[in-house]
Amino acid sequence: MNLFADLGEFCRPNVPLGPMTWFQIGGPAEWLVEPRNEEDLAVVVHRCREAGMPLRVLGLGANVLVGDGGVRGAVVRLSAAHFQRIEIHGERVTAGAGAHLTKLVKNTASCGLAGLEVLAGIPGTVGGGVRMNCGGKYGDLASSVESVCLLSGRGGVREKTRGEMGFSYRHSEIGEDVVVSATFALKSSDAKTVQERFREIWKFKAETQPPLEDCSAGCIFKNPKDGPSAGKLIDELGLKGTREGGAEVSAIHANFVVTQRGAKASDVVRLIERVEEQVYARAGVRLQREVQIW
Ligand SMILES: Cc1cc2nc3c(=O)[nH]c(=O)nc-3n(C[C@H](O)[C@H](O)[C@H](O)COP(=O)(O)OP(=O)(O)OC[C@H]3O[C@@H](n4cnc5c(N)ncnc54)[C@H](O)[C@@H]3O)c2cc1C
Repeated sequence: MNLFADLGEFCRPNVPLGPMTWFQIGGPAEWLVEPRNEEDLAVVVHRCREAGMPLRVLGLGANVLVGDGGVRGAVVRLSAAHFQRIEIHGERVTAGAGAHLTKLVKNTASCGLAGLEVLAGIPGTVGGGVRMNCGGKYGDLASSVESVCLLSGRGGVREKTRGEMGFSYRHSEIGEDVVVSATFALKSSDAKTVQERFREIWKFKAETQPPLEDCSAGCIFKNPKDGPSAGKLIDELGLKGTREGGAEVSAIHANFVVTQRGAKASDVVRLIERVEEQVYARAGVRLQREVQIW
C-alpha cells in the first residue's frame, strides 16, 4: 500500500540521502518528505504513526551517518521556505526548524544581538541544533532558547519552555517529536563586538578542526563526564590517522572521522567500533556516540 499516494507534491520514493548529509554517503530514504507547512507535516506524521511506519527528521545531516542500505520509512526534511524563516522582534528571534544555524547566527550578530554567536562554525539547522543542543567550549544553543514549538506523534503542535525541554550536554528530551520552530531570547549589544566574537570563535574552530568542507559529522563521541575529552583520549592512544577503507581518524582532531571519495558508511562504522574497542581496552573508558547512525 502506498501511504503517500495522494501526497506526491511533497513525498518522493527512493531518494538518495548521501548528498543531503555532511558525510555525503549512505543509501536512499524509502520516502523523502519535504512538507510545505505544518499542515502537510501533521498529515505525514499522523499517517506514519497510524501505519507504524518509521519517521525520522533530517536537518543538514551534519551529525548523521546514513547506512549504505538507506533507511526504511519516511525521512522528513524541513527545507521549504516556510520552515526556513527567521523573524527578529527586538531581542526575541523566532526561526523555523529548517533555518540554517549559520545564517541565523550571522543575522543576529549583525543586528547586535548577543547569545547565538557562541555557535559560530557549527553546521546544521535550528531543528537539529535544538535536538542535539549543539555547542562547545563557548556555550550551547539551549542557553539562548526561550521556547520551542514541537509537533507530536498525534499531530498537534505544542510550545515548550526551555525548562520543559530537558536540555543537557548534547541532549534534549524531545523524544519522537518534530521541532517546528524555536524562539530565542537574545541580549541587545554592540553589533561590532558581537561580530568580532563570532569571528574569534570561527577562527578558533578553523584552527583546531578539519576544514568545514571536509566530509565528517563533527565530533563522533561525546566527552566523558570526568577525565580527558574523547579527542584527547583517542589522540593519546596514537589513533590519529587510523583507517578503515575510505574512513580515517582525522590527523587534525582525533574525535573527527573524515572520509575520502568512495568511502562507505560501513567503513565509518567499522572505524568507530575499532576506536571504541581500543579506548575501552587501553584506557578503560566506554565512549558514548554523539553521531546518529541511521
Ligand atoms: C564540521 C563539523 C563541525 C561540527 N561542530 C560541532 C560543534 O562544535 N558542536 C556541536 O554540538 N556539534 C557540531 N557538529 C555536529 C552538528 O553540526 C550538530 O549536531 C548540528 O546540531 C546538527 O544539525 P543538523 O540540522 O545537521 O541535524 P542532523 O545532523 O540532520 O540531525 C541530528 C539529529 O537531530 C534530529 N533532527 C534534525 N532536525 C530535527 C527536527 N526538526 N526535529 C526533531 N529532530 C530533528 C535528527 O533526527 C538527528 O537525530 C559539527 C558537525 C560538522 C560536520
